[in-house]
Amino acid sequence: MARTVAVIGGGISGLAAAWELTRPGADVQVTLLEGSDRVGGKLRLADVGGARIDVGAESVLARRPEALTLVEELGVADLTTHPAAVGASIVSRGTRWPMPKGTVMGVPSDPESVRGLLDDDEVQRLVHEVVEGAREGDLSVGDLVDARLGPAVTDRLVEPLLAGVYAGHAREISVEQAVPALAAAAREGRSLTDVARDAVAAAASGPMAALPVFASLVGGLGTLPELLGARLAEAGADVRTGALVRELEADGSGWLVSTGPTTDVRRERFDDVVLAAPAAPASRLLRHVAPSAAEALATVEYASMAIITFALEGPVPPELDGSGFLVPPTEPLTIKASTFSSLKWPWLAQAHPDRTYLRASVGRHREEASLQRSDAELVEVALADLRTVLGEGLPGPAAAHVQRWGGGLPQYAVGHRARLAPTRDLPPGLALCGAAYDGVGIPACIASGRAAARAVLTRVGSARTVLG
Ligand SMILES: Cc1cc2nc3c(=O)[nH]c(=O)nc-3n(C[C@H](O)[C@H](O)[C@H](O)COP(=O)(O)OP(=O)(O)OC[C@H]3O[C@@H](n4cnc5c(N)ncnc54)[C@H](O)[C@@H]3O)c2cc1C
Repeated sequence: MARTVAVIGGGISGLAAAWELTRPGADVQVTLLEGSDRVGGKLRLADVGGARIDVGAESVLARRPEALTLVEELGVADLTTHPAAVGASIVSRGTRWPMPKGTVMGVPSDPESVRGLLDDDEVQRLVHEVVEGAREGDLSVGDLVDARLGPAVTDRLVEPLLAGVYAGHAREISVEQAVPALAAAAREGRSLTDVARDAVAAAASGPMAALPVFASLVGGLGTLPELLGARLAEAGADVRTGALVRELEADGSGWLVSTGPTTDVRRERFDDVVLAAPAAPASRLLRHVAPSAAEALATVEYASMAIITFALEGPVPPELDGSGFLVPPTEPLTIKASTFSSLKWPWLAQAHPDRTYLRASVGRHREEASLQRSDAELVEVALADLRTVLGEGLPGPAAAHVQRWGGGLPQYAVGHRARLAPTRDLPPGLALCGAAYDGVGIPACIASGRAAARAVLTRVGSARTVLG
């Protein structure tokens, strides 16, 4: 009889785990248990002013293989699309500056490339990098960059780029976890600018150099989980939404999983479990079966945010140019970024030529106050900020949509990797995956989901078949 595996959580990590478990050769009956009414987690489409558009994650790093490989396996590689090469900008001291080319998470490889965005004294400080000796141990990205290149580089370059990934603060985020190239420079006592120069040169000459950096799907990235859910069902997986897992208990060599309302709990036995829920629910479920892992996960904090999407009447107004802009926390604005979706994604402009779509994001780690507004107030604040940056002539929207992401992005605080060591030491037949561990980006989540699936397959002895 096929072994039974429960995958708890139907975000991209859990879906990737379930997909790996249903590959030919794995004799496994998969049940995907998703607590909400839809699969996809942070990948989501919504109707805004007549278009179905991403209101969560919108693109994947194309220079890692995992997301595009999955798209290929699903047979929809022809829907892969890339952002138009129109360039983004960063706001500094009230002016938009072209996004400097050739940085490693905001650390410039050429100080001249950031003149203007940084003032002359700040550039001078950057040129005279203070290279200390080699240092052991983790530290925050911001503390490293402050000491080496001066706080202006952290505030005006690193912060907006890191916030785009983590919605966090550079002076709290682990350099080891978030920017390994800079962590290596610290360990080896090398100049950050030199490391950035090497990384940029390597990227420009490597095998991926000619490829676009980012990708998405025509129709939006939110179509990916919808398709995965459907393909999993076709492959025989039992994909259940509205199936919030309340409890996980050990049962001999297997697991008892409880779902459903407290008045009508359904308890089922599975041979193996892949737990793909975010840190807080994962911690609660692991309380009795892996207490050290549960404790470690309880320390992972999350940033909440909101994406406000606007549909403007008519073609792209002259105020919009490029793909959008980032806002450092030093600027007196509430929004932290804006994407000019109709300019960034040609498929969207072609599908909806009579409307212009753009979105803005609000919310950084521990700054929930910025989100304590009604949807109407968020729309108003975002529009006012957009007009401050782009000009008062920006037309009012025909439609607006607010998507809140409470607990949207895990924060990799300094020491994250070491602190989460207990999550790598689990009872057999139990594996964890998701954004909380080794990367918040979608390719990293897919990698973690597939690795968790292989970990449970290894226990049932079929991993070799699956891995070929
Ligand atoms: C607004 C936003 C924009 C982003 N943009 C990008 C981007 O453009 N590119 C990129 O690479 N990354 C982006 N990210 C990050 C990336 O989307 C996420 O890190 C990733 O999707 C997380 O996937 P996951 O499956 O690990 O977790 P989630 O998407 O959080 O999925 C976890 C799932 O588990 C379910 N769940 C929780 N508890 C239980 C339970 N007890 N029982 C059953 N189910 C449960 C939840 O309902 C959820 O569906 C963005 C994130 C956000 C918030």
